[in-house]
Amino acid sequence: MNRIPTVDALCSRGMTIIDDICCLCEEDLESVSHIFSACPISVGVWEKVSFWCRIPRFFIFSFRDLVELHSVGDREKADREALHGVVLTTCWVLWKARNKLRFNGIRSSVEEIFSEVRVVSFFWFKHRAKKGKFEWEDLCKFVNM
Ligand SMILES: [Zn+2]
Repeated sequence: MNRIPTVDALCSRGMTIIDDICCLCEEDLESVSHIFSACPISVGVWEKVSFWCRIPRFFIFSFRDLVELHSVGDREKADREALHGVVLTTCWVLWKARNKLRFNGIRSSVEEIFSEVRVVSFFWFKHRAKKGKFEWEDLCKFVNM
């Protein structure tokens, strides 16, 4: 919905941004589509996420593709919800990595971003699990570790 304050969204709202290039890769204009689907950093993270979640490597052309990724294929409801959670967590961690670099000058590697995705996903599952306790070992059963 273009509500995330990327450079292109801020420019369309009338702000002047001098540095309009994606800070993660410095290759293209920063936009939602670029940061979450086309940026080489995000492509690297999504590749690790697909292996981790045991889903075929996927190609995303828009943010909508990400939001609807969990509904593609034949999965049980719990697996769809888990995949959706991992996708949203990954988007959140990518956005945080972008902000950390843009505002604090601290660059995160693909591996560091992916590590944070795993940890944040674990806490997300742990606190959203409907039945009983959810421990690290339970997450390891769901995904490749
Ligand atoms: Zn980029």
